[in-house]
Amino acid sequence: MVMSNPITKLNNGQTAINSTEFPVIDAHIHLGGRYRTEQYWEKYDLSDVISELRNLGICHVVNLELFTRRHWDFAYERTEPYRDFVSLCAPINFDRINDNDFEEIVRNEMRYYHNKGACGFKVWKNLGLSIRKKNGKLYSLNEQCLKFIWEEAAALNLPIVIHVADPPSFWEPVNANNQRYAELSSNPKWSYCDLEVKYDDLLEQLEKMLQDNPKTTFVVAHMCAAAHNLDFVSKMLSTYDNLYVDIAAVLSEIGSQPSRFERLAIDYSDRIIFGTDYFAGDEFPHAPYYRFLETDDEDFPYTPDGRYTQGAWNISGCKLSEAVLRKIYYENAQRIFNI
Ligand SMILES: [Zn+2]
Repeated sequence: MVMSNPITKLNNGQTAINSTEFPVIDAHIHLGGRYRTEQYWEKYDLSDVISELRNLGICHVVNLELFTRRHWDFAYERTEPYRDFVSLCAPINFDRINDNDFEEIVRNEMRYYHNKGACGFKVWKNLGLSIRKKNGKLYSLNEQCLKFIWEEAAALNLPIVIHVADPPSFWEPVNANNQRYAELSSNPKWSYCDLEVKYDDLLEQLEKMLQDNPKTTFVVAHMCAAAHNLDFVSKMLSTYDNLYVDIAAVLSEIGSQPSRFERLAIDYSDRIIFGTDYFAGDEFPHAPYYRFLETDDEDFPYTPDGRYTQGAWNISGCKLSEAVLRKIYYENAQRIFNI
């Protein structure tokens, strides 16, 4: 399939920036293990990746790319020489969720990770979308038998970083009216058209989870799974004090509504965290994030190479104040992940 990728001809005195003057914590990146194989770490040089990140103004990263204890131990050892630069979120492993000793295993692992200096716990979107009970039904986020995880995290004083659902377009028919048509056509498995659980169900489950566990800090990735609906995000942030959001991989969506995002960023400047969803080995996505947050440039691409990876539109900058930028770039992450 030929993808249309029109290039803007707009000439309006743009101030394209590639780096930033501010210290930045990228609190949502993926180092290693992407394909659940340790060979992945051999595909790039970690010291190169880290020096490139430093060149981009990054002073610290939070790695979310781990699935099992084996991954953790491996990543812990690999990142040991860079402990001042890399913090690790530990995985909650649901592989044995249907076993009788699941709670004991997970509790022990959580304590082990805490002792090793984990900065938080990561829960992947498969919770809600694909992890099933013995009877075939999907587990929901607010399942009673999972409550101990959120309580244990609170007891250990560590946040839960959770990816919930995906954009609502992924539940809609894959046709020319779908805003994410190109993306879904190239990745047909990303469509949830046939899934019994819908986008709204997952957001409802998330809300119950936040409500039932007020002592647990939740960082809900990708703008609380609702970057297309910042009124909803705003309502959630005002209702649940334990909710934080990151802006990873939603630049196309927040960048298409810069003034609405600016209002949200001002209203909830203590609750929004910078992150990019960078996968080591891929192109660095940071420059357009800086440009969005720091300039009022209009109509520019949300990827560094101008490819429309999520939808065929451009974005405009929201030019946040220095005080708000400092909070989003590093102060919030520093506090929440205890960096
Ligand atoms: Zn991610």
